[in-house]
Amino acid sequence: MTDLSSFSLEGKTIVVTGANTGIGQGIAVSVSRAGGSVVGVGRSDMSETARMVETTGGKFTQVPCDLSDVDQAIRVVEEIWQELGAIDGLVNNAGIIRRADALDFSLEDWDEVMDVNLRSVFFMSQALAKNIVAQGRRGKIVNIASMLSFQGGIRVASYTASKSGLVGITRLLACEWAAKGINVNAIAPGYIVSANTQALRSDPERNEAILSRIPAGRWGDPHDIGDAAVFLLAKASHYMHGAVIPVDGGWLAR
Ligand code: NAP
Repeated sequence: MTDLSSFSLEGKTIVVTGANTGIGQGIAVSVSRAGGSVVGVGRSDMSETARMVETTGGKFTQVPCDLSDVDQAIRVVEEIWQELGAIDGLVNNAGIIRRADALDFSLEDWDEVMDVNLRSVFFMSQALAKNIVAQGRRGKIVNIASMLSFQGGIRVASYTASKSGLVGITRLLACEWAAKGINVNAIAPGYIVSANTQALRSDPERNEAILSRIPAGRWGDPHDIGDAAVFLLAKASHYMHGAVIPVDGGWLAR
């Protein structure tokens, strides 16, 4: 008999930031397929994701929030907790990238990326953890890192700093919160089809250079990340703390 209950998200409420498109949308659909209810947090309309989730028979709610404003981000976690009575998992997916040579990199491009990719992530996680600890519940936090959590990249100084920092924060929070029943882990996606990588994919030379280095021989799909997130949100990963899982078609193994 097959028993996959430890991989199920049945009865769980999972908050996914940036769920309107790309990887966040893939995560929302995977969570729903695994039985979880999804609360999408972000600044753009999420009705496309809502339709996709509802097609799988799942439940999707959207809560508006500009994650560049840390106070708003914290408030949204509080409001969702109050409204639903609990949050079982948070996927810190929303992220932005700015491209410029390091010699010319602006303070604005530094701060904007750090605010969304790192500052709000930490303080939303903190807001969630306070509630979980206060009520003696369990919880799961999944951070969406990057290949640039391990590599330098070029022309993306603040992005590399934020994603490298995100792995540091993942490990720190895992150390502080593991004994409190909160699992904090990260997924490092390789090159995934989304708006974020549109420029790379439409440049024939960059596209070919990237593809030729990926052992799997294809760009990743948002669902490749979504299914890995389900594992990190489910009971199956209860003994995992501070892990950073590459889901990259073998890019890092090369
Ligand atoms: P994407 O399609 O550009 O999606 C980014 C998401 O973040 C969108 O939902 C976006 O909302 C949201 N967001 C950005 N700024 C926000 C703000 N101030 N407030 C609220 N939401 C905001 O890119 P993606 O590829 O799916 O990226 C998702 C995550 O994966 C990011 O953290 C990215 O760094 C990471 N990642 C992606 C790849 C890849 O190959 N695609 C690889 C490694 C890591 P709007 O639509 O409103 O802008």
